[in-house]
Amino acid sequence: MAVQSIRQLLHMLERGETTSVEIVTAYLHAIEEKTDINAYITVAAEVALQQAQESDLRRKAGKQLSPFDGIPIAIKDNICTREVLTTCASGILQNFIPPYNATAYQRLRNAGFVLLGKTNLDEFAMGSTTETSFFGPTKNPVDTTKVPGGSSGGSAAAVAAGLAPVALGSDTGGSIRQPAAFCGVVGIKPTYGRVSRYGLVAYASSLDQIGTFAHTVRDAADVLAVISGLDERDATSINKPIDFDSATITGDIRGLRIGVPQEYFNGVDGAIVTAVKDVIKRLERQGAVIHQISLQYTDYAVPIYYLIATAEASSNLARYDGVRYGYRSKNIQKLKDLYVKTRQEGFGKEVKRRIILGTFALSSGYYDAYYLKALKGRRLIIDDFTRAFSQCDCIVAPVTTTTAFGIGEKISDPLSLYMADILTIQANLAGIPAMSVPVAKDESGLPIGIQIMAAHFNEKVMLNVAQAIEDSVVR
Ligand code: GLN
Repeated sequence: MAVQSIRQLLHMLERGETTSVEIVTAYLHAIEEKTDINAYITVAAEVALQQAQESDLRRKAGKQLSPFDGIPIAIKDNICTREVLTTCASGILQNFIPPYNATAYQRLRNAGFVLLGKTNLDEFAMGSTTETSFFGPTKNPVDTTKVPGGSSGGSAAAVAAGLAPVALGSDTGGSIRQPAAFCGVVGIKPTYGRVSRYGLVAYASSLDQIGTFAHTVRDAADVLAVISGLDERDATSINKPIDFDSATITGDIRGLRIGVPQEYFNGVDGAIVTAVKDVIKRLERQGAVIHQISLQYTDYAVPIYYLIATAEASSNLARYDGVRYGYRSKNIQKLKDLYVKTRQEGFGKEVKRRIILGTFALSSGYYDAYYLKALKGRRLIIDDFTRAFSQCDCIVAPVTTTTAFGIGEKISDPLSLYMADILTIQANLAGIPAMSVPVAKDESGLPIGIQIMAAHFNEKVMLNVAQAIEDSVVR
C-alpha cells in the first residue's frame, strides 16, 4: 500500500471512498508481504477485522466515536491489550494474555481506533536495536541489513514500511526517538505524566512514557492527544490541558527562541551535524532566534541513566517468578527452583545483565555510592534544563550520533550501545517532552532525524517547531 497518513485515510473514509474493513485488509496484506521485516510479534487479524466492521457500522449510522473512528494502529508489545498476547518480546511472557487494557489503548478504542497487531521490541524495552527480542530481530525497512533502532523498533519499522499508518511505542531512554530517526518517521516522547502508564509493562517507572509514531507531525500529535490526560490508575499522570492536537499546530515560529546545546554535537557523524545545522539555519530564516546554550552534565547522563534504569528494572522485574503469570519452568521439585529456573530460562542475556547491575547498585553498602549518587546527578540535569528553558523556548539537536548500523554489528558490545544513548536519555531523566523528525538522508540513503525538546508540558511549542521543520524539508 502506498504510504498513507491518517489525514489521507480519514479523507477517504469521510467521502465514502473506502471503509475501515478495506483499509485494514490492505494493511493485513502488506504485513503478509513483508514478514521479513519482522515488525509484528502478533498480527491481530481477526480482532482488527471485527473492530473495523463495528467501526463501519457506526460510520454508516452517523455514530462515529471520534473523527478517527476506523483508523488502524499498531501497538508496541509491552502495552497490555485485553485478550491479545502481550509478550514484551520476552520468553518469560511468551504466553501472557492480559485480562485488561492499558489506559492508552483503551482510549484509542474509545475513539474507534482499530488494533492491527503488537509490534516487536527489545526484550522488556531494554535495548536500542530490537535485536534482543525473543522473537528475532526487526529489520530496518530502508535497508534490511540495518537495525531499525529500538527498543520500539517494530513500531518504527511498521510505520516506515507502510504496515501501519500510526503506532504506539514507549520511551524510557530514547526508545521512540532513536528508532524514529533510524527509520525516517516522526516519533514523540511526551512529558512524563502526560500519558498514563497503566498497563504499560514497567521497565524503569520513573522514566517510562508511552508516545506515538507517524508519517507526519500532525498525525503523531493527534494520536498523542487521544491517549493523553489524567488517569486515576496512574498516580504520576497529570491533569493538564491537551492543547496540541493538529488543529492548534501552525508551524509559525516567528520570535521563538531556540537553544542549540553545544555538547550535543560532540562525536556525532558529519552528515548528521550538517543536516541538523542546515535545519537550524532554515529555522532562523523562518523567524526563530537561535541561542547557543550549554547542557553541562551531558557526559554524565549515560552512567546516571544506566544506574537508575537498571535499579528500577531489577525491582520491577522481580514479579516474574513463574507463580502468577507467564512462563513457568517444568519439572520443579522445590519452590526455590521454581523461581530460579523460571527466571534462568525465561529471561534473555541483556535483561539478566541489567537485573544484576541494578541489584548491585541498590544493595546495602553500594546504595549511597551508586544509586543515591545517580539520583543527585539526575537533579543536576533537571536543574540544567530549567536553566536552559529560562533562556529559550525549545532545544534543537541531533537525536543519534550515527545513522542506522548493521544488524549484529554492535550487539556484542553493550557498553558502546549504552554510550550511543547519550543524546536521548537526558529528556527522560528530566521528564521533558522530546521528539524526532526526519530531515535528511546520509550518503548511503539512511534517514537522519532531528530532536526537538521543550519544557514540561510544552508539547505545543515543540510540535510547532516540528511542523516548521517538516514544512521546510523536502524529503
Ligand atoms: N536504549 C535505552 C536502554 O536500553 C533506552 C530504551 C528505552 O527507551 N526503552 O535502556
